[in-house]
Amino acid sequence: MRKCRKCGEPASIFLKSYRIRLCKNCYPEFYERLVERTIKKYRLIKKGERIGVAISGGKDSAALGKVLTTLSMKIGFELETFFIDLGIEEYSRKSLAVVKKIDPDVNVVNLKNITGSALVKMSKGKKICSACGTIKRYLMNKTAREMRVDKLATGHCADDIAVFFFKNWLAGNFEWSEKLLPLTESFDPRILPRIRPLYERTEKENAYYVLTTCTPFLVDECPLAPEDEWKEILYGIERKKPGFKQSFVRGIVGFYKRSEKRETYEGRSCSICGELTTGEICSFCRIVKRSFTDCHH
Ligand code: AMP
Ligand code: ZN
Repeated sequence: MRKCRKCGEPASIFLKSYRIRLCKNCYPEFYERLVERTIKKYRLIKKGERIGVAISGGKDSAALGKVLTTLSMKIGFELETFFIDLGIEEYSRKSLAVVKKIDPDVNVVNLKNITGSALVKMSKGKKICSACGTIKRYLMNKTAREMRVDKLATGHCADDIAVFFFKNWLAGNFEWSEKLLPLTESFDPRILPRIRPLYERTEKENAYYVLTTCTPFLVDECPLAPEDEWKEILYGIERKKPGFKQSFVRGIVGFYKRSEKRETYEGRSCSICGELTTGEICSFCRIVKRSFTDCHH
């Protein structure tokens, strides 16, 4: 039996991308530290802020609620949770029951009370995932704003980001989307800043966390959602390239930062040759200069 890296007891979890084995007692702390690192790296939450957490009852947002509760004491911020009851019959009823177990004080918003119709009625039997996405985003923002929180947190993880990216690019939609970043800043007072603290976590890491912390969560998938083959495809890549999802999402942030720089960039002229450069001397002249000093010392 292989041993836990932290305590030496038999390990039950192997994280291939970190090449680490852990037991179920040591895993939660490891996971919490990873999420804390993401929060600090991307400056997602500041001390004293109030964070609205959207909880659906699935493993990812259940993990989010749990980890933020732990970190709120460590970092020093406040939490408010909420659930949107879309009225998807049995599925919504079960979700609500789980969410109430996660947080008995959860705020519940009912779509039927707002529009007079539950989602199942609005769908008329058709696949309505994109409409549902719009409805959820609208109500999440409105609810969090009315709760007067500073930011809205969702349970989107690396798997979601990668799937979203692949689907869009293959559909020929190369437009940049803020949904691909760990933090979406507000551009209008009606829109709250959005944070995705599980941005660098995989579904598997989230699943281990809810299991090792005995956090209630719902296994059922939404009955209206079609099967998503992209998740399976990404699991296939991850099996052959451990850590793929995490480096992929980090790559997206890096790509975004570089293109942001390009937008604000002003062309300069190299002080030696006059060609276009970003610095004082262009990279061609820098190489030539260096090789000259190397050869003629
Ligand atoms: P999904 O769009 O179902 O992949 O969910 C993405 C994130 O949106 C989840 O991790 C939750 O944070 C949030 N969310 C989804 N559905 C609900 C819901 N019914 N109530 C509250 N939050 C939700
Ligand atoms: Zn251990």
